[in-house]
Amino acid sequence: MANEYKIPTATVIKTRSKDQQPWDVEAEICVAGAGISGISAALEAAKLGRKVVLVDGLPALGGQAVNSIIGTFCGLFAHGEERFQFTHGIADGILDDLGKSGDLFYRKGPGWTTVFYDEIALSRWIEEKVRAAGIQVIVGAVIRDVVLEDKRIQGLKLATRYGDVNLKANGFVDATGDAVLSWLAGLPCREPADGPIYGTQMIVLEGVDEKYTPDREELAKRLKEKAAEYGVMRDDGLAFFFEGRGTVALNMSHIETPLEPLAASRIGLEGKNQADNAANFLRCEFPEAFKDTRVRAYGLPGVRQTRWISGNYHLVEGDIRAGTKFDDAVARTGWGFEIHDKPENIYWENFEDGHAHYVPLRSMTPRDADNLVAAGRCIDADVAALSSVRVMGPCMAMGAAAAHALDLAGDGSVHQIDMASLRGRLKDNLETKVIRPEAQL
Ligand SMILES: Cc1cc2nc3c(=O)[nH]c(=O)nc-3n(C[C@H](O)[C@H](O)[C@H](O)COP(=O)(O)OP(=O)(O)OC[C@H]3O[C@@H](n4cnc5c(N)ncnc54)[C@H](O)[C@@H]3O)c2cc1C
Repeated sequence: MANEYKIPTATVIKTRSKDQQPWDVEAEICVAGAGISGISAALEAAKLGRKVVLVDGLPALGGQAVNSIIGTFCGLFAHGEERFQFTHGIADGILDDLGKSGDLFYRKGPGWTTVFYDEIALSRWIEEKVRAAGIQVIVGAVIRDVVLEDKRIQGLKLATRYGDVNLKANGFVDATGDAVLSWLAGLPCREPADGPIYGTQMIVLEGVDEKYTPDREELAKRLKEKAAEYGVMRDDGLAFFFEGRGTVALNMSHIETPLEPLAASRIGLEGKNQADNAANFLRCEFPEAFKDTRVRAYGLPGVRQTRWISGNYHLVEGDIRAGTKFDDAVARTGWGFEIHDKPENIYWENFEDGHAHYVPLRSMTPRDADNLVAAGRCIDADVAALSSVRVMGPCMAMGAAAAHALDLAGDGSVHQIDMASLRGRLKDNLETKVIRPEAQL
C-alpha cells in the first residue's frame, strides 16, 4: 500500500515586528508567586468567585514545596497529646488526596508530627486543582517592574521567553518569598541585619535498603564526628526517610542565598557539590543501607529567609513565645525556632506541648499600599519569628487569609476591612480542633 504520509518541509520566513506590543492581562486578584502560599491564595480566591491570575518566574507551579523538594510539611499539627490540625483549606485536600494515593508518610516524634510528601504527586495535585479552578496561569514570567499609584498597585510588568506581559488587577498577593512585588513597588523591606540566613540544596536518593536504615540518633552522632572529613558543611543535617519507598531526602547542606544574580548562580552549583558530599558520607559510613543508592533528583536551591516586607506589625520572638493571640490573627502553628544563621549548624528550639502562636494580618500588609497583602516567607517578622512561621502549615493559612482580606477589601483598603468578618471566614484555621487519626501517636 502506498504511504500517503508527506514529510513536512515547507517553511515561512518571519521577522520580529518593531511594533510588537506586550500582551495585556486583567484579573480581579493577581497572585505573584506559585509556592505553597501563592497556591493557597489563588485557589481560595478562585473559590470566592474571583477572577484570578497566578504568576511565577519558574516554568512550573509549586514554588519551593515542589521544585526545591522540601519534602515535609511542618507546623500543620499541634504538638503533644492532642495533635489537632492547625490549618485546613488546601491542607485538607492535600492530606486527603495524597493520603489516599499513598503519597504521604506521617512521622511522629515525641512532641511533633510532620508529614512527608511525594513532590511529584504534590505537583500534579497543584496543577490539577489550579486547572480545575479556571485560574489564569502565567509561568516563566519574571516580575521586572511594579506600578504603584495612589497607594494602589496598578499592575505588574512581566518578562517571559515569549515576550512581555502587562498585568492589571484590583488586588495583589506578594507570595514571592523574597518580597519581590513589594520591593519593586518601592515599598520598604527588611533583610537580616546580622548576616545571611542559609539555604539548603535538597537531594533525593533512591535505592535505600530499609532493613538497615540507621536510626536518627546514630546518624546524627556520626555526622557530628565526620562531617568535615567528607566536606559536608553542616554537622547537624537531617535525612527524611520515606518508609516503604526506599527513598531519602537529604537536608544536609548550607548555602548562602544572596539576592544577586551572579553569586546566586555560582552558589547554586556549590550547593550541588555539598549535596553530593552528603550522599557520599552516607554511602561510605552506612554502606548496608546506602551502597546501592542513586540520586533521584536535585531540587532547585532552597531559600529560607532573604528579604521580607515591612508591614503594619513586626511579629517578634516574644509574640511567638507568648502565643500572643492578636485580634487580627489569621494563622496559627506550634512550630519552634529553626534559625539557620551559621554555616555549620542550626539553632533549634521546640515549644512545650499544646503551644500555639499566631500571625496577625497586620504583619502581612505593607503600610503604603491599600490593595497588597504578603503571604508566606516574606511577611513582616524578626529573624527568629520568621524562622517559625515560614514553615508550610502556616504558609497555607496565610495564603488563604490574603485571598479573604483582598476579597473583603474589594475596591477599598485591606487596612480597613471588617475584622469580625475575616475572623469568621478563617475560623477553621484559628479555632477548630479536628484530629486526624493518622497524625496521632
Ligand atoms: C531547604 C529548606 C528546607 C525546608 N524544610 C521545610 C520543611 O521540612 N517543612 C516545612 O514546612 N517548611 C520547610 N521549609 C520552609 C518552607 O519550605 C518555605 O518557607 C515555604 O515553602 C515558602 O513558601 P512560599 O510560598 O512563601 O515561597 P516559595 O515557595 O519560595 O515561592 C515563591 C515563588 O515566587 C516566585 N518568584 C520569586 N521571585 C519572582 C519574580 N521576580 N518573578 C516571578 N516570580 C518570582 C518563585 O519562583 C517561587 O516559585 C524549608 C525551606 C528550605 C529552603
